[in-house]
Amino acid sequence: MVFQFIKSSYKKVKSALARARSFLGTKIKSLFSGKIDEHTLEQLEQTLYEADFGVKTASELTKKIRELHLEHPSYKTQDYLNALKTELVKILKSCPSTHREYSELPQVILIVGVNGNGKTTSVAKLANLMVQNGHKVLVGAADTFRAAAIEQLEIWANCLKIDIVKGSPKSDPAAVVFDAVSAAKARQCDVVILDTAGRLHTKTNLMQELEKMRRSCKKVSPHSPHETYLVLDATTGQNAIDQAKQFHHFTPLTGIILTKLDGTAKGGIVIAIQRELGIPVKFIGTGEQIDDLEPFDPEQFVDNLFD
Ligand code: GDP
Repeated sequence: MVFQFIKSSYKKVKSALARARSFLGTKIKSLFSGKIDEHTLEQLEQTLYEADFGVKTASELTKKIRELHLEHPSYKTQDYLNALKTELVKILKSCPSTHREYSELPQVILIVGVNGNGKTTSVAKLANLMVQNGHKVLVGAADTFRAAAIEQLEIWANCLKIDIVKGSPKSDPAAVVFDAVSAAKARQCDVVILDTAGRLHTKTNLMQELEKMRRSCKKVSPHSPHETYLVLDATTGQNAIDQAKQFHHFTPLTGIILTKLDGTAKGGIVIAIQRELGIPVKFIGTGEQIDDLEPFDPEQFVDNLFD
């Protein structure tokens, strides 16, 4: 089952990318408005690098602009900008889809990530988005290591008027996962979203715990979890890539929820994540409110990064 979402809100994405736009868009436009020479190209590469695009992408994009300049010496600012935007959309769209479709219900979505990245908030936001799109949703509070996370999710669930299955603090998260998926199945829910403990990715035993949760899912629904989304904080830059690599090593990820894009000037991290990891960014966090989560739309994202 592929969830269909109402189109991403242009206004929200635009507003969330205001900082990134003033850092990147303004700088690049000013570079392209002058004479293009080796110095300009060096500055372009440096700016892309500083905006977290990653070394490889910064260098490839600069090479592309160098070639364009040689081929079309009469190009104007907007021509270069359009070429850059086209390349970026191409890169973002070339990320292979990780979705394997199974029709079984409920669809199980496991949410993983390091503490503080916005995991619990994203579970609530995603549940809200699903509810808005007419789905019956249940959330599972399997972050049993933080009583506050259980309480926080319970408040959101009450607010959204959806069911929640929770364990007592310090109880086995795999048991909560089993109960939540079982309850969602019995109650004929379309989707169950599972919040997990966000412990440090460097601890192997904690990753094994995640594996145990996956096994719990499969006991109830053989192909589940259907999606495993890693929540990453856009403001942590390249550190987010390292986190993703660690998680992906232990548990296959099907998508990224990139939070706090509203709090960074370095929007290039979206491109670096997809390129270096080959994992698609599925949703972006645009603020702290319940409806501040948007399905990721490459064209809209790139447009708002520059204009
Ligand atoms: P967790 O420890 O990973 O579960 O993180 P939380 O869900 O508790 O979120 C940590 C903080 O990040 C909270 O203050 C959230 O309101 C905030 N947060 C989460 N997502 C976003 C976002 O997209 N934008 C902003 N500005 N803040 C966010």
